[in-house]
Amino acid sequence: MARIAFIGLGNMGGGMAANLAKAGHDVRAFDLSGEALDKAKKAGCLPAEDANAAILGAEAVITMLPAGRHVEAVYTDSILPHADAGAILIDCSTIDVATARRVAVAAGAHGLTAVDAPVSGGIAAASAGTLTFMVGGSEAAFSRAETFLLDMGKAVIHAGAGGAGQAAKICNNMMLGATMVATCESFALAEKLGLDLQKLYDIASVSSGQSWSITSYCPVPGVGPETPADRDYQGGFAAALMLKDLKLALEAAASVDADTPMAARAGELYETFVNGEGATLDFSGIIKMLKG
Ligand code: NAD
Repeated sequence: MARIAFIGLGNMGGGMAANLAKAGHDVRAFDLSGEALDKAKKAGCLPAEDANAAILGAEAVITMLPAGRHVEAVYTDSILPHADAGAILIDCSTIDVATARRVAVAAGAHGLTAVDAPVSGGIAAASAGTLTFMVGGSEAAFSRAETFLLDMGKAVIHAGAGGAGQAAKICNNMMLGATMVATCESFALAEKLGLDLQKLYDIASVSSGQSWSITSYCPVPGVGPETPADRDYQGGFAAALMLKDLKLALEAAASVDADTPMAARAGELYETFVNGEGATLDFSGIIKMLKG
């Protein structure tokens, strides 16, 4: 079993660090929040005084932080100067592709090996250990990271070179944002046309309108499997995080001159939703706004 540094013990990182401890690893955990550190301690991790203390002597350094600026700061101030030469650096946060590539290059310049490994799956999957990881880095770096990622997830996929994990993540979530909006507006229209919404689910989920947004995450209460819609859109994947990911996708699209009109519209709709009633709701709650 390995000594692992885990930095960023929030909604996602807390469950992930707990699963590494459960798998028998010696997890040195750090977060700026004392409450998060206490929870990690209860879950079997050893709270560290600061990031540097967590990193010293670790075979793997895992980060799960809010955004690119946090990742770059932690890498610059703590990880690059303090990580062991043989350590594998794994950033699981969702961040912009440009920062992910910069961090990988900076790690290389320090003689360190890094991968970007963002996740698909929310808080429940993080605590159940059923996340999907999409990994960017060399073949050798991927194999080293995979061992640790498998203790936190059900699928670990090598997406390509450094930054490819983040590229895969934002392309996936760009599809998800657009299909969720399309699913919600279809149900809103069906209701106005007097169609039984269960019938639309039964038909569309086995027809060409089928997508994960309808079959696994139906935005209508009482229809399909249990989803946040059945809990008044509480829990699940926050609309604010969907907005974050759409912005990252649009930023990446602009950087390579890609035309993404559906993502742009989905981004506008999520911005309106998050600035209003959707501030604390799951992303499928956008159906409330689309119904008017
Ligand atoms: P969160 O805000 O709950 O947790 C982030 C944690 O990082 C906080 O506990 C914060 O105190 C800590 N932190 C910030 N700066 C730090 C620093 N310098 N040193 C140590 N700790 C620091 O966020 P989350 O929901 O856990 O999400 C983490 C990442 O995972 C984000 O990039 C997010 O986009 C991504 N993600 C989240 C979900 C989800 O459903 N929540 C799903 C997929 C991906």
